[in-house]
Amino acid sequence: MKYIFTYILFSVTTLSSFSQQLTLRLSSTPETVLINGSATAYLEYFITNNSTDTLVLEKLELVTNESTATILSLDRSQLRTRLHRPEFKTKVDATVMPPGTTNVLYLEPVLKTGKDQAQQAVLLRYTVNHGGRKENHTFRGSLVLKKKAPLVLGTPLREGTWVAVYDPAWERGHRRVLYKGDSAMHLPGRYAIDFIRVDDQGRYARDNEDAIGNWYGYSADVLAVSDGTVLSVRTNFPESATLSAHHQPGPEDATGNYIALQVSSDRVAFYEHLKPGSIRVQPGQRVKKGDVIASLGFTGQSTGPHLHFHVADRNSPLRAEGVPFVFESFKMLGAYTNLENFGSKMWSPVKNKVVLQERPAPNTVIVFE
Ligand SMILES: [Zn+2]
Repeated sequence: MKYIFTYILFSVTTLSSFSQQLTLRLSSTPETVLINGSATAYLEYFITNNSTDTLVLEKLELVTNESTATILSLDRSQLRTRLHRPEFKTKVDATVMPPGTTNVLYLEPVLKTGKDQAQQAVLLRYTVNHGGRKENHTFRGSLVLKKKAPLVLGTPLREGTWVAVYDPAWERGHRRVLYKGDSAMHLPGRYAIDFIRVDDQGRYARDNEDAIGNWYGYSADVLAVSDGTVLSVRTNFPESATLSAHHQPGPEDATGNYIALQVSSDRVAFYEHLKPGSIRVQPGQRVKKGDVIASLGFTGQSTGPHLHFHVADRNSPLRAEGVPFVFESFKMLGAYTNLENFGSKMWSPVKNKVVLQERPAPNTVIVFE
């Protein structure tokens, strides 16, 4: 039987290391989301070196509190791919932490949340190299899973085959792009998905892909994922007819033309890169689930026509926290293991399977039902 709940994680005590060398803070209140039948948590830890020495993070583990079973274990080379030092534009080896530095650690552990494990505490252990000495520490405090109903949404698009383009492992993907707010960093695109339409050969454009009109998804109907009220729209972005003539705007204009739709009391759905002149709604307007509200386009920060979709906790494209959602139903046709040859290569097919109340897995090929 399917899980009908998602789980919310929260810290029960202040998380800090025994030695106070490193302090650790969760960036928001994370929740789990069901992906391929597994409850997956998207966690970001801000880790600061408060000592006067350089510390090298060598190993890190997430363990369950009771059984000390390992949920996830990362060695130094794996840590390098999941640590990011926000103030550095160029790549640094973030496992080496001089005094005063802060890293963000991105983790997506799969947590066991069966019926009898409605609550599960999670601990974080780590090993640092401190001037040639290896020291093991456990962050005090724990994360506890609690039941919470997921946000279930209808389809944002209809006919055709769509690739749910995203991967939490991408170093510059939506999941890792933090924006500075007045008092905190925000991660609006934590659960963002870019939908690109493909044909049955996995091609996203006919003939010359430079012409946006050749993209299969271009101009597709964009639908209200639930009943709700439109909170804001932006409609002033023009569109170039070709990819090559497109000028990438800065982060404040990354959305292009967009619609923000309130889907529950504290949840706002964002539809971005919409086609100029296609937005049929205005702020304050009530819409019904399934209403056509705009057309897919190529405005804002984009490398080709697609629908950017995410849900956040407030009405701000950049200064809000991305929150999880699931779709009522979709059919999964397959997945791309990587997108290197995307557009010229078929996906790896799976036996068509109807998926209920889940988030599409990274780079899966789906049909909305
Ligand atoms: Zn996007």
